[in-house]
Amino acid sequence: MTMAIVTHASCRLHDMGDDHPEQPARLGAIQDALLASGLDFTVRHVDAPAVTREQLLRVHDPEYLDLIAAVSPTTGLAPLDDDTLMNPHSLEAARHAAGAVIKAVDLVMNDDIDTVFCNVRPPGHHAERHHAGGFCIYNNVAAGAAYALDAYGLERIAIIDFDVHHGNGTQDIFEGDPRVLFCSSFQHPYYPFSGDEATADNVINIPLPAGTGGEDFRRAVEERWLGPLDAFRPQLVMLSAGFDGHAADPMAQFRLREPDFAWITDQARELALRHADGRVISVLEGGYDLPALGRSVAAHLDSLLGFK
Ligand SMILES: [Zn+2]
Repeated sequence: MTMAIVTHASCRLHDMGDDHPEQPARLGAIQDALLASGLDFTVRHVDAPAVTREQLLRVHDPEYLDLIAAVSPTTGLAPLDDDTLMNPHSLEAARHAAGAVIKAVDLVMNDDIDTVFCNVRPPGHHAERHHAGGFCIYNNVAAGAAYALDAYGLERIAIIDFDVHHGNGTQDIFEGDPRVLFCSSFQHPYYPFSGDEATADNVINIPLPAGTGGEDFRRAVEERWLGPLDAFRPQLVMLSAGFDGHAADPMAQFRLREPDFAWITDQARELALRHADGRVISVLEGGYDLPALGRSVAAHLDSLLGFK
């Protein structure tokens, strides 16, 4: 397997304040862990381009894109909601975070790259068609999936979201679209308090209670996701890779560990090997305990590369 990591310098300049958990140091912690593990030397590093307006219009309304541009400040911080803020670099960071996933699609469809990790922020899975929220501005994974459907004519894409929060934005964008199978596991009841009711045949949500550990998480995934994912025969597997379900994470109350993130990654990689020529695109979402985040991403990429 060959892997690329796509990122952009602007992703470290988006800063919502010293007390905000979604902080630039997250990307540094991941970078440090990849250097320490030796993974950094085995992958190709690719610079993310900026997403285009046309690419964003597949998943967001024009009025929403205009609002984001209008809120973007020249100094200080400007709020999009209670916990999602923009500084003067946020717009550029958001454009490159979404652009990273566009680039990832080109890499797995055209190049000799099998798997891509988009090491980007702001995250994206809470961004709905019309609304920002939950630290997210543009829905990065959705922009990439929509691009793969349109530009490459793919007919079936699986999006597996294992962040501890429900991927309400991705569900909002793709629910009812039979070209996408969206699977989200999350702590419930918990922010954003959605996802507990069936909405469409192409959405398989797994709400799980606070305190859920690796054994219960794996059993739920085996029972609810693996059969339907195999039957769907995805031509591309995409991951909303959130690591805030780690036992050490201060944001939520799951008890997952590095081997659990490696396990769900193995399931995704094996699914892709069976149906998608091994193509997996992983996009960073949450993960707020810096050491746990670094170790978890290293375990995740080890699995994506097929190292065990
Ligand atoms: Zn999260």
